[in-house]
Amino acid sequence: MSEVIDILKDLISRPSVTPEDAGCQEFMADYLKASGFDIESMVFDDTTNMWARKGKEGPVFCFAGHTDVVPTGPLDKWHTPPFEPTEINGYLHGRGTADMKGSLAAMLVATRRFVEKHPDHKGSIAFLITSDEEGPFINGTTRVIDTLEARNEKITWALVGEPSSTHKVGDVIKNGRRGSLSGDLIVKGVQGHVAYPHLATNPVHLAAPALTELSQIQWDKGNDYFPPTSFQISNINAGTGATNVVPGEMHVQFNFRYSTEVTAEILVERVHSILDAHGLDYDLDWTYNGLPFLTDKGLLVEAAVKAIEDTTHITPELLTTGGTSDGRFIAPTGAQVVELGPVNATIHKLNECIKMEDIELLTDMYEKILINLLAND
Ligand SMILES: [Zn+2]
Repeated sequence: MSEVIDILKDLISRPSVTPEDAGCQEFMADYLKASGFDIESMVFDDTTNMWARKGKEGPVFCFAGHTDVVPTGPLDKWHTPPFEPTEINGYLHGRGTADMKGSLAAMLVATRRFVEKHPDHKGSIAFLITSDEEGPFINGTTRVIDTLEARNEKITWALVGEPSSTHKVGDVIKNGRRGSLSGDLIVKGVQGHVAYPHLATNPVHLAAPALTELSQIQWDKGNDYFPPTSFQISNINAGTGATNVVPGEMHVQFNFRYSTEVTAEILVERVHSILDAHGLDYDLDWTYNGLPFLTDKGLLVEAAVKAIEDTTHITPELLTTGGTSDGRFIAPTGAQVVELGPVNATIHKLNECIKMEDIELLTDMYEKILINLLAND
């Protein structure tokens, strides 16, 4: 039997639907205590977090991840019960196998192996684990980071176990993420009868040229790691439903996914200047969903690339595509951050599963990263 698969099965059988932890972190804590870790549980409202650390010195290598999983969806559509880990043809089925309990199991076993072989390793090893990554991410990683920052405890390198791989485990490392910025715009006009347009002001007519201009701007050209910044309108609403009424307002929602070539402040300023130049009367509320971050080539990226090459003989691609992750809360502290985890083909879907061999490979990769960064010999 494989230790890492046994651990994964134990974690899967705990129904930790966000923000529940269902005892996963206690299980992880017990395992890490045996390897010499000090455990700090940080509970904020409905969210359970764990900060575990072995060693007092820097540099600090931190495994980051989450024990919560997304809801199962309709149970009758699952071929196997989602919280009963089931092996089928080399795959393990269950909610959270890929996102991201497989990574958690691999982190635990890699750490135990490394500590046994390198008891006098450099620096410190840490685990930052939350139960609200899939939820509103208010009381999770961001609060733990606030706590660490307040006492000036720094992470040098963070490895987030999100399922980064596309076809084969290790084919993609995410070394950054785009920023996300949303706008909620109300363009004001004056409602009236379509037959008396001189008595009305049509917000659709006023806004259309401004929206056209916004949708055609090249905000930047991107760079080696980021595609160009994109502006997308997601919702437009205006009108009363009647065909003879000029609407009084138009509601527009839009989102930027932006590169490190611009900042949220620059985007906000440009949007306002365009709306103003078109003479619009409007309200605009902004939501800052996450800052972009980038970990350029450096010790962490090199250690991860080399570990993958030594394990599978493939050279990973460095990408910043995809949604956001908790890496966005860790990177602003100055830490280098990468995401490396299993294949993401089934995450958040019915019948989530993972190739068991991949979890063994991921364990080897994680152990080699620890060796590359913290081994003394
Ligand atoms: Zn995840």
